[in-house]
Amino acid sequence: MQRILDPAQIEAFAQRSIPRIRLPDPANLFSRRAARLRTLAENHAVADYLRLMAIVSDAQQAAVGALIAQPPRPGGAAPSIDPLITLARRHGMPLLQAAGWARDVRWRAVFTELCDAVNARADTPDGVRAICTRIRDWPSALLEEQADLLLAARTHGVHGDAAPFIMAALQVYWVFMVASLPMDLLGDLGADRDQAAHADLSGVCPTCGTLPVASVVRANHGYRYLHCPLCATEWHLVRIKCSHCLTTEGIRYHLVEGGSEAVRAESCDHCHTYRKILYQEKDAAVEPVADDLGSLALDLLMAEEGFRRACGNPLLWQPSGV
Ligand SMILES: [Zn+2]
Ligand SMILES: [Zn+2]
Repeated sequence: MQRILDPAQIEAFAQRSIPRIRLPDPANLFSRRAARLRTLAENHAVADYLRLMAIVSDAQQAAVGALIAQPPRPGGAAPSIDPLITLARRHGMPLLQAAGWARDVRWRAVFTELCDAVNARADTPDGVRAICTRIRDWPSALLEEQADLLLAARTHGVHGDAAPFIMAALQVYWVFMVASLPMDLLGDLGADRDQAAHADLSGVCPTCGTLPVASVVRANHGYRYLHCPLCATEWHLVRIKCSHCLTTEGIRYHLVEGGSEAVRAESCDHCHTYRKILYQEKDAAVEPVADDLGSLALDLLMAEEGFRRACGNPLLWQPSGV
């Protein structure tokens, strides 16, 4: 039987319309993350690390603001006319595919800025200061090689102590590129479309092709979005579905006893992986990268239960299988 909606119902539906993609707001993405990391650091077993990453996030906020404020580079190709984007658009691929992207030198300038900002803080631990002083002067070939490995999710050959700082610079660069995309390309991504009109997107970020770090159930409508740890794009995925292999069978939820109600692990009996799922209605301030980092006790529980993480955290580099 055909269903006919009256105008009032159509209007009500339009108001409920949910975008299938949520793009990051570069004006406060990293400052919100910094604030969340500081909140999570209170009475936390790894408080010093969370506070260090809050310092890095503050520096990222300043760096992305400075990049956006820069005038377009003379003679430099705008992202809209980059041949890779044109190709990706034609084939329905991520527009700013992280692996293999021809990064320009600005990301390395951001890396230097981040190292300097961490060094300039009086509360930076001496060991971290020594790392930042050493890696800030790495030759560009080494930095580019490390970035290639990290963006391709490789582990062999990665310098673990430098990795969080390199990823932090790459995050700034990708968020800046997303913020620079022209409106017609954002329309291609589906930022202005109702998710209900589309099938679920795949398990990788539609903007840059990176695996999601965690998912968030938004409080105002209860829809679940996966969060990209690189460019911070969020994309819709129905609930009670594995974000790794996309099955809807054998999905279970795990909590640390006495831990936050706002963070659970969603596990899959089919592929034996898990990802954290955050509930904004339980805590309005949840932030995927920060809360994933701040819930390491849940990772220990899941390892005991025989599940492996479906992805890493950009601010905590760890070899595979650890
Ligand atoms: Zn992305
Ligand atoms: Zn699965």
